[in-house]
Amino acid sequence: MPHYYIWTIGCQMNQAESERLGSYLEGLGYRSADNAEAADLIILNSCVVRQSAEDRAVNKIHALKPLKKAAPEKVLAVTGCLVNAEVARLRKKFPHVDHFFRPGEYPSWLGENAAPALPQRPAPAVYVPIMEGCNNFCSYCIVPYRRGREWSRPLEEIVAEVRELVRRGAREVTLLGQNVDSYGRGLPGSPDLADLLAELNPVNGLERLRFLTNHPKDVSPKLIEAIAQLDKVCEQLYLPVQAGSDEILAAMRRGYTVDDYRRLISRIRSRIPEIVLSTDVIVGFPSESSRHFRETLDLLTEVKFATVHVAAYSTRPGTIAARELEDNIPLAEKKARLREIEQVQEKIATELNARLLGRTEEILVEGRVKGKWQGRTRGGKLVFFKDSDDYLGQLVKINITHTSPWSLQGEAVANTFE
Ligand code: SF4
Repeated sequence: MPHYYIWTIGCQMNQAESERLGSYLEGLGYRSADNAEAADLIILNSCVVRQSAEDRAVNKIHALKPLKKAAPEKVLAVTGCLVNAEVARLRKKFPHVDHFFRPGEYPSWLGENAAPALPQRPAPAVYVPIMEGCNNFCSYCIVPYRRGREWSRPLEEIVAEVRELVRRGAREVTLLGQNVDSYGRGLPGSPDLADLLAELNPVNGLERLRFLTNHPKDVSPKLIEAIAQLDKVCEQLYLPVQAGSDEILAAMRRGYTVDDYRRLISRIRSRIPEIVLSTDVIVGFPSESSRHFRETLDLLTEVKFATVHVAAYSTRPGTIAARELEDNIPLAEKKARLREIEQVQEKIATELNARLLGRTEEILVEGRVKGKWQGRTRGGKLVFFKDSDDYLGQLVKINITHTSPWSLQGEAVANTFE
């Protein structure tokens, strides 16, 4: 029986893609191997969103060279965002790789009628890609060049897929796309994300719906209304701001001002007071002065996000910023700014989570880690609890007994499904 091994880095899109690729291979009779050495087919699913991710992918390809030399019958394939239009260049650079294929493509060497497959036994919380690509061309971002222009999957196809995943055991679905707010553009009848959520909400057995990533310039009043009204749509929004200065936002070509962003947050919070917000920030963008950086810190202190993913800017060849802007903030300064944001955010998260102490939160149990059950609240907060019963895939009410900036701990008070 042949074995496969898939190595994945990068975003949830890549994770979802690898999961489907694995299910497809299992349908062909492959079994999963624990490492590349034990596999007949090795697939690397790469990410290039940051230089460090690209470096890891490239290092991994190089690291597999001796294995491929010792066992040339093993098939080595690379997919993900590293695989761009210049496959010939990649072939030259990595001659020991047998195949390169673009994300979402299922080339014929994988088998006849190759197509993504749903997992037979999905996890309680699963990802469902609803669109690919991005048309935004933020100046620092390589995604539109690697993942291509936006295209959306038909609404009926997604609904059928979610029904099937739920039938097989999934309880929570996170809809994925680089910019889910532009879902449906170009589809017949132009359905949007709110329409899709409304179609999915009644699916029997489905308990929760989430979606990411949003673009602040595209979040519509209709979507806010859908979150407020549809009972299965969780009160959680991932809304990358990237910077708190209008000058930097303009240089990033984000298409909104800080005040636009503030207004959006206040609209969302006034309609959905319990909303849990997360964001992304880039520090050390070209020409980011200390004043610009303070403006970002001020915005974070004012909005109080539950989570802030912070990254130090690095030039991605091929982007607008790489062509037009000088990477002129020293690395040490970028690192100092990154640390400062992390410290400020740690304090904010400590305070926000402390407010949950003594409260009862409903979590969906996703698995067991180091002897404890692990799940998430509707707002997406990670909760751990100890109990000898089997809670996998169940909605459980937890009394929160301990909080930290990163997670919550508690005790089960009642099992929703009992
Ligand atoms: S919205 Fe901007 S940052 Fe996000 S994927 Fe598209 S181009 Fe990249």
